[in-house]
This record gives sequence, C-alpha cells and structure tokens, in this order.
Amino acid sequence: MKSKEDILSILENVCDPEVPVLTIQDLGIVRDVHVISDKEVEVVITPTYSGCPAMNTISMNIKFELLAHGFEQVLVTEILSPAWTTDWMRESGKQKLKEYGIAPPQYDTMNNPRESDFVVPCPLCSSTNTKLVSQFGSTACKALYKCNDCLEPFDYFKCH
Ligand SMILES: [Zn+2]
Repeated sequence: MKSKEDILSILENVCDPEVPVLTIQDLGIVRDVHVISDKEVEVVITPTYSGCPAMNTISMNIKFELLAHGFEQVLVTEILSPAWTTDWMRESGKQKLKEYGIAPPQYDTMNNPRESDFVVPCPLCSSTNTKLVSQFGSTACKALYKCNDCLEPFDYFKCH
C-alpha cells in the first residue's frame, strides 16, 4: 500500500491551471492525505480563493493523477477553515512566480495587513517604480500593475 508520503510526491505533478509553473504543493493547498486502501485515497485541500474556478480543475487533475497511479477511488475534500493564505506558499513557489513574470505576494499577511502601502517590484526589471492599474488582473486572484521604467504591465499575485 502506498504511504501518505508517496501520495504527496505524486501530487508534486499536479499544477495550478492558472499558473502552470506552480504545483499545488508550491501553493500549499494540500492539507492532508488519507490512504484508505491500495485502491482508495482521500486528498484534503483548502481552496486558494473561494469561488476560484481553477479549483474544480485542480480537483479533477488530482483525481486524474492518482487514477493514473493505480487508484480506483479518489475523493477530493475541500476544507474552508482555516482559510488559505499566501503565507502557505513555498518560497520556491514564489520564486517560480517571479520567473514566470508574476510578482509574488510581498509580505506575510500576519504582520502587514495593508497591501495598499506596499511597493510591488517589477518582476521583469526589479524596478520599484510601479503603479497599480487595477485590483483585478487576468483573474480575480491577481492585480494588474504597470512598471514605469520598462513600461511593461504585469500581474501581481495578491496576498490574503
Ligand atoms: Zn519593469
């Protein structure tokens, strides 16, 4: 029978449909795994943003991945509390975001609750001369910024 660790390493293959360079493990949304038998497994996840349409795709991808590894029954359970925060993201995940051209969340939500006070550096040229264009970027989870130096618009992965 596969162990919880086996399942967690299989889940390293499941990517965020919105930011395909990030795995669900980078995002920190997998809360628990219960191996019920060698055919049956339950994965407990906490959605990043409630109502985020990507979550259905993530659940489906978790099922596909585990079915491909020989499981016949895969249950994906969502728990909403405690709510996911960007603090649960791996540092390596934040780095991957930046390389992908999305500014990673700038602070931990515990210490700095006021996002509007923060300067978001441009992920392309690292300039801090940037400006918020819209609270909603390509998806509700991101804000749209523009860099005043390289003049490129970029997404910022919002903290919460
Ligand atoms: Zn720039």
